[in-house]
Amino acid sequence: MLNPDRVELVRKRFGLTKSGFADALGVDRRTIQRFEAGEYDLPDACLDRLCKFSGFARDFFSRPSPEFPNPDCVSFRSLRSLTASKRDAAIAAGALAFEFDDWVADEYDRPAHDLTQADDASPSAAAAQLRAHWGMGLRPIGNVVNLLEAHGIRVFSLVEETRHLDAYSLWRNDKPYIFLNTTKTAERSRYDACHELGHLVMHRHKGSTHPSAEDEANEFASAFLMPPEDLLAETSWGMTLTDLIKSKKRWGVSVSALNRSLYKIGRLSDWSYRGNYIALNKHLKELRDRGLAIDEPETMPRETSQIWAKIFRDLWSRGLPLARVAKLLDVPEKQLNDLLFGIAAAPQMPDRPRFSA
Ligand SMILES: [Zn+2]
Repeated sequence: MLNPDRVELVRKRFGLTKSGFADALGVDRRTIQRFEAGEYDLPDACLDRLCKFSGFARDFFSRPSPEFPNPDCVSFRSLRSLTASKRDAAIAAGALAFEFDDWVADEYDRPAHDLTQADDASPSAAAAQLRAHWGMGLRPIGNVVNLLEAHGIRVFSLVEETRHLDAYSLWRNDKPYIFLNTTKTAERSRYDACHELGHLVMHRHKGSTHPSAEDEANEFASAFLMPPEDLLAETSWGMTLTDLIKSKKRWGVSVSALNRSLYKIGRLSDWSYRGNYIALNKHLKELRDRGLAIDEPETMPRETSQIWAKIFRDLWSRGLPLARVAKLLDVPEKQLNDLLFGIAAAPQMPDRPRFSA
């Protein structure tokens, strides 16, 4: 007996409408509707086609119903421009991540979260509070993903090819989750991760769908990545684009994020702020005209997960490479690998000691 909820998960994951899905399976739309309503089982040939095009194993479709992230509790930026199918695809990725995460939880202990809750503090105060709680002082953050993982946040990657989806986050059974679109620049992903951290810290109880939630999360992200005191100590008055490109590396942020923060703390006049913004766009356009697909000048390398790398090294040594884990869960390797920063396919094995003669 097939579980319609499982079939729906896969349909959503591939961003298909019911009629697109019916086409892919070679049946008419009514067959899908009747199947989803539980009136009718899918013909065997149809299930074969489903497994073939999706890569999911047959058994996947008869497992118990999956747990989807509740879309009402998840805040998507630019919701207006994000299509329902792209949103559903990202939510379906979350459902797969939960299944993998629960499987890992049976095998490995991971740190419990130690996030502060700041329902009433201002975003910059909430950021300072969390930095203090984590004993970070004013130091710049070397690797945001690793920092979040060390504090018990489960971070997954999304490889959604849409510029309208940056990231999303949620609480599940007292565990914080962040899903990051890793097709953005490294600087942008770091900012997005801190934006989601802001939602987790400030909006756990009141939700993140109120009108000011997005601005609050952005303000949190800026203050968390670039503590104002450190910005003041490390920058000078009236910085130009060239200065910003050099200086942004300290905090691992984009030029535009640094420009905005400097303006907000009064280090840049209105005129300089706008001038830098225009100069940045001109600079990027020149690079693009030369055929360089660049969204950020002198971008840094993308961040990946340390925890997943560590776990997969261990699984590998236990004879459980990605292919076997995927098989245990009846999912295609690619779906898992996409959620795990692409590191699961080829875990970095420790170098063998080399001896020179
Ligand atoms: Zn948000």
